[in-house]
Amino acid sequence: MPDKVQRVKGVNDILPAEVRQWQALETIIQNVMAGYAYGEIRPPIFEKTDLFARGVGEDTDIVSKEMYTFSDMGGLSLTLRPELTAGVVRSYIQNNLQQVSPVQKLWYEGPMFRQERPQKGRYRQFWQLGAEAIGSPNPEQDVEIIDLFYALLRELGIEKSVTLKINSVGDSESRAAYRSALRDYLMPQLNKLSETSRNRFESNPLRILDSKAPNDREIIKNAPKIRDCLNESSAAHYEEVLAMLDKMVIPYFQDDLLVRGLDYYTHTIFEFTSDALGAQDAICGGGRYNDLVKELGGSDVPAIGWASGIERLLLVVDAIKPLSTDPVLDLFLVVTGSDLRTETPGIIRNWRSAGLSCDADTLRRSMKAQMREANRQGARYVAILGEDEFSQGVVQLKNFESGKQTTVAIEKVAEVIIKDA
Ligand code: AMP
Repeated sequence: MPDKVQRVKGVNDILPAEVRQWQALETIIQNVMAGYAYGEIRPPIFEKTDLFARGVGEDTDIVSKEMYTFSDMGGLSLTLRPELTAGVVRSYIQNNLQQVSPVQKLWYEGPMFRQERPQKGRYRQFWQLGAEAIGSPNPEQDVEIIDLFYALLRELGIEKSVTLKINSVGDSESRAAYRSALRDYLMPQLNKLSETSRNRFESNPLRILDSKAPNDREIIKNAPKIRDCLNESSAAHYEEVLAMLDKMVIPYFQDDLLVRGLDYYTHTIFEFTSDALGAQDAICGGGRYNDLVKELGGSDVPAIGWASGIERLLLVVDAIKPLSTDPVLDLFLVVTGSDLRTETPGIIRNWRSAGLSCDADTLRRSMKAQMREANRQGARYVAILGEDEFSQGVVQLKNFESGKQTTVAIEKVAEVIIKDA
């Protein structure tokens, strides 16, 4: 026997029963996004590698070790998108979206690719939902985009199982001041830090705050706080954001160690975590990226956004308040008598085009087996068609829930079922 081909490690098959859950979530997402006036954008799944190197940062885990990069036939280096902020910004610049309106509010959903070590909630192909507001430098935009995710949590009924952590990394002047304060603090203890953190000491000391190594964490505990290094305008921006969150009764907690792993952040950064998850507890991460549009060749346009892992969102939803999905099948046609086989495709096609979801047997099984199949598929009705019924142009229509059975003309079946819904 030939070997069975297995799927690649760290990727998932999303099977029909799960897809129904995804679609229920997607309907809620689409409604929330429409309510906040965000338009959906669908950039390509692969981009030139250079976009991520410049956009996400050479020094980040994503770019330095997790990307799926390959050469195309012309020798061009391409990468499967590991995240979509860089792609959205590239698209914003290339399509002159700035000219469409001064604030562009965009959302997206789709697969991302990272070569991470797979575990529960961490995959190599995973889906992200994301939102980006490009154009406004003001705190009310920060609050709106945080509130957008919070609204989604509320619609899903899981906002109480989620914590919003927030911090500010300020503007570049504030970050430079902080980098220097942090280096001064770490310098005398440099040899006690992990190798990864020692390597980051010069290139990106803020990332040391992110370290999970127990020794590093001990040292980091007493490190100076970035909050204390914010210059006046950065501190004012952050305070306004917090005041507005208070006003909107969106609970948060200030996490002085929150830095996030991507290079492009400025000012407000945030993360939503859930204790319904295991080690991989982040369900959404985001922040302001005021310099990215300019760094990718656009004009000096500020922006803020977030991305949320859909698989993780669904894990929380499943644990707290599973989404209800509508029954899939309205009607199953059960046929007795083999002469009628040639008639059935035309009959169910008419019911389908009248708006019903219908199915019928194509394996020529017994009536009993057909009834069992109708049951397995959760059909609301079965229509039984035998020679007698066919000659009179009727079916026996049985409501599976009430058990009630009536004789209905074939061309009236859809009408009866739709009226009954
Ligand atoms: P990031 O782009 O790393 O800030 O991630 C944003 C969100 O995407 C996280 O909060 C997670 O919910 C989700 N996410 C990131 N990486 C993975 C992964 N490898 N597998 C599943 N979800 C992920």
